[in-house]
Amino acid sequence: MFFLNSLEAWTKQEFEDFFRSVWVVKNNLSTPQGRVLSQSALSHVHATLFFDQPSTRTKMSFMHACEFLGMHTYYFDGGASSSSAKGESIQDTYRTLGAYSDVIIVRSSDKNLVLDMRQDFKAWGYNKRIIQAGGGSEFHPTQALLDLYTLWEKSFLEKSSKIEEKTFALIGDLKFGRAIKSLLRGLQVVGAKKVYLVAKKGSELPAENKIEALNSGLDLVETSSFEDVIEKADVFYIPRMQSEYESVSSDARQGQPKIKTPDFVVSPESLSQMKPDAYVMSPLPRLQELPEEIDTDQRAIYWEQEKNGLWVRIALLHHMCKDLILKNKIEEFGA
Ligand code: ASP
Repeated sequence: MFFLNSLEAWTKQEFEDFFRSVWVVKNNLSTPQGRVLSQSALSHVHATLFFDQPSTRTKMSFMHACEFLGMHTYYFDGGASSSSAKGESIQDTYRTLGAYSDVIIVRSSDKNLVLDMRQDFKAWGYNKRIIQAGGGSEFHPTQALLDLYTLWEKSFLEKSSKIEEKTFALIGDLKFGRAIKSLLRGLQVVGAKKVYLVAKKGSELPAENKIEALNSGLDLVETSSFEDVIEKADVFYIPRMQSEYESVSSDARQGQPKIKTPDFVVSPESLSQMKPDAYVMSPLPRLQELPEEIDTDQRAIYWEQEKNGLWVRIALLHHMCKDLILKNKIEEFGA
C-alpha cells in the first residue's frame, strides 16, 4: 500500500492483520532494545510532513513515529517562509516535496489535496508514499485506525465484545467532524451493525455520508437527543465543535473563529447513566464537551487513544514502507 486517504478500500481481514501488527509494534518498541533495533529499519528514508492546518497529536505522533523508525523527518507548513508566499502554486509546492521525500504526510484544509497529489505524482513518474493526515472536513483515516485499534485492543485484552458487536453513538458536530466520517467508514468495513447519529439541527451528518453508510448495510438511527441513547450505546464518540469551518464572527479574535458552545456535554451525571462497560472516545483536542472531571472514569479512554496514535502510525509507516526496508532488518524488527 503506497497511499492512504480513506478506509473503504480496506477489508475486515486487513484491519485485523493491521491491529495485530500494531500490537507487536507496541510491545516490541516498549523496550529499549526494540527501540534501538527499530532505528535502523528505515534510516535511509526521508519523510516530509506537509501540514497547512494546526495539529498537536497527529503532527507529534507522526514526527515521533518517523523518528522511531530512524527516518529523516522534515516539517513544512507551506506558509510565509515558503515560496507560496511568492505566489507559487500548490501543485509546484508538492512536486518539490515529491522531489525530495520518499513519504509525504499531508494535512490540509483541502480534502482533495492528497488525491490531486497522487495524480500529479503519477504523471511525473514519482513513486511516493502519501498519507492523509486530515483532509478538510472529510478524511482522517489514521485517526479512525487508532480509534478502532483502541477498541480492538480492549476486546483483545479485556475480552470485551468485538467492535462489530458494539453499538456506537456519534455525537455533536457530525457535519464537519472528519474523524467521525473516517470512523464511520471504518465501522462499515469491520461490519458494525448499529450506529446512532446524535446531532442538533444544522450539525447533522451530510446526506452523502449517510447514503454511503446505509448502502454498506449499517443501521443508522438519527436523533437530536443524547438522553435517547445514553443507556443504549456501548461507545460514545464525541469530537469538539469544529468552529473553524463556520464563518468568522464579528466578535472573534482576529483570524480565529469564535469557539462554538457544544451541543452536548458528557457530564459526570451522563456518565452515571451509561453502561458500566461503555467507552467515551474523542479524537481530541477536547473542549467543553468533555469536562476534566470525567477524565478519571475508566470509561473515558481518549488519553489511551492518544497514546495508541503513536503505535498505530509507526505500524502504518512500517507497513507502507516495507519494501524499502533493507532485507536483513525485517526479521530484526519483528512486525
Ligand atoms: N484532531 C482531530 C482532527 O484533526 C479532531 C479535531 O480537531 O477536532 O480532525
